[in-house]
Amino acid sequence: MRVAIFSTKPYDRDFLNEMNEGHNHDFTFYEPRLTAETRGLAEGFPAVCAFVNDQLPADTIAYLAERGLKLIVLRCAGFNNIDLNACDEHGVTVLRVPAYSPHAVAEHTLGLILTLNRKIHRAHNRTREANFSLDGLLGFDLHGRTVGVIGTGKIGAVFINVMKGLGCHILAYDPYPNESLGVQYVALDELLGQSDVISLHCPLTPETYHLINPDTIAQMKRGVMLINTSRGALIDTQAVLDALKDEQIGYVGLDVYEEESDLFFEDLSDRIVRDDVFMRLMTFPNVIVTGHQAFFTQDALRAIATTTVNNVTAFEKGDINPENQVMAEKVIRSS
Ligand code: NAD
Repeated sequence: MRVAIFSTKPYDRDFLNEMNEGHNHDFTFYEPRLTAETRGLAEGFPAVCAFVNDQLPADTIAYLAERGLKLIVLRCAGFNNIDLNACDEHGVTVLRVPAYSPHAVAEHTLGLILTLNRKIHRAHNRTREANFSLDGLLGFDLHGRTVGVIGTGKIGAVFINVMKGLGCHILAYDPYPNESLGVQYVALDELLGQSDVISLHCPLTPETYHLINPDTIAQMKRGVMLINTSRGALIDTQAVLDALKDEQIGYVGLDVYEEESDLFFEDLSDRIVRDDVFMRLMTFPNVIVTGHQAFFTQDALRAIATTTVNNVTAFEKGDINPENQVMAEKVIRSS
């Protein structure tokens, strides 16, 4: 099948080409993101392959469907960037990679927590300059602290086990509790009020947009650590900035940012970054940001490429895996 693949980096091409052996799909790799300006590149392709910051609003779906689009395969789990109603309306099937390595994201989440707590990034810079002073590097034992986990799906579940391993007390919030996890589920306000560390593992939906806002921040413990490796718009970033200035929030670790599509995955080091909110965030010593790399392990990339290629083949054979299909009516329950 002919597939226009957007937002590709060399590592995407390597893994997708490797997994395409034996399937023999006709891949055309595009480096740019899929936007209203670049969608013409996909004209006449029956399939488009998209990533987290590619944009598939209703008008782009209609435009591409009129030009032969039948299938969108996502190289990710989240699908907040697609108008699913428009896909239903135009008969476009959407397949995703619901799980590739929850461990990759959960382990990166732990990395952010440990880096922030023990200030490893700052210590590394100091020792490189032969500055062995410990002033300002004081951390706390995670053992015995309360970690609030919002969203206990695949990643949240792995993260809970990781943090249990460190001896943390877990509080969980999810509208669909998973009793097999053996954790204490509480109301959101109780989780916010009791947690020393709060980590977000829920999808971005209309209900979770700006879940972290002035009201929910006010309910948190003073000096709380807030971690987001899910989707940027779960957090009202300006509200978090204000709370950092007031010292209501003590630490922030982000792998995602609500305006990340203008920044992440590109080398902008010789350009002027005009996002003042992001740049202000970077001035805090108690904030660490990674550029949407939590998924970025060899294991996860291999799994993403395998499922993506299998999704295209299955669609061609009329034998899709319903668990990989995203439809508008499934969204309430899914990610
Ligand atoms: P999942 O579908 O397995 O789990 C999501 C959980 O969130 C479900 O249990 C669901 O019931 C719950 N949920 C839904 N609405 C909620 C709400 N209002 N409050 C609390 N919980 C709610 O998804 P997953 O595989 O665990 O992934 C979680 C999120 O992580 C994805 O949606 C994606 O946005 C993000 N993600 C980020 C990266 C990265 O590289 N940073 C990689 C993969 C996934």
